[in-house]
Amino acid sequence: LSFSSSNLSAKLLENIESIGFELPTPVQMQAIPAALEGKSLLVSADTGSGKTASYLIPIISHCLGFSCDQLSERKPLAMVLTPTRELCVQVEEEAKLLGKGLPFKTALVIGGDAMAGQIYRIQQGVEMIVGTPGRLVDLLTKHDVDLSDVSIFVLDEVDCMLQRGFRDQVMQLFRALSCSQVLMFSATISPEVVKMARSIAKSLVIISV
Ligand code: AMP
Repeated sequence: LSFSSSNLSAKLLENIESIGFELPTPVQMQAIPAALEGKSLLVSADTGSGKTASYLIPIISHCLGFSCDQLSERKPLAMVLTPTRELCVQVEEEAKLLGKGLPFKTALVIGGDAMAGQIYRIQQGVEMIVGTPGRLVDLLTKHDVDLSDVSIFVLDEVDCMLQRGFRDQVMQLFRALSCSQVLMFSATISPEVVKMARSIAKSLVIISV
C-alpha cells in the first residue's frame, strides 16, 4: 500500500513526498484509511511509529474538503491533545510541513506563552488547535473561541495522559465539543486506556500493529 492509493489531494501527496515519506509505516497503513473513512480509532502506537502523521494526514484531508465549501469562515475543525508542550510543538511542526502551501493553519495552546497571543491566532482563523489539556480547558471555559465546528478530536499518548492525571480534563473537553470522530493513540493499551476510549467513542476500531 502506498500514500498515493489513499485518495489524498495532489498537493498533500506532494508534501508527503517532499518530507521524505516514501511508504506508509505499518501504523499509517492501517490507521490512515480507517480515519479517512471517518471511523473512531484506538491505535497502539509508540513514538517512532509514525503515529503523528497517522492523524495529521486524515485531519488535513478533512480540512481541505471543508475549505472548498466554507471559504469565508475559518473555524477550528480539529483539536489535538497531547500530554506535553514539547510534543505539541513537534506535532505542530510536522503539521506545518504536511500542510505547506495548503489552506491549513494551526494554533498552539500550551503553557509558557501568553494566552492572549494564542487566542488571537485562533480568532484570525485556524483549522487545527494543538494543545495540552489544562490550557485547552482554560481556552474552553474562559475565552471567546468558537469550537462548534471541531469534528475530529485526537488524543495522543492516552496512557501518558492518564498517568499525568489528565483524565477529567480530557473528558471535560470531549463533552464540550461535538466531534464525530475521535482518534486515540497509546503506546500501551491497558484496561484503563480501553475504558476511557470506550467512554469517549461508542463505536471504536482498535488497531494494534
Ligand atoms: P512519530 O511516531 O509520529 O513520532 O514519528 C517518528 C518519525 O518518523 C518522525 O520523525 C516522522 O517524521 C517520521 N515518519 C513518519 N512517517 C514516516 C514515513 N511514512 N516514512 C518515513 N518517516 C516517517
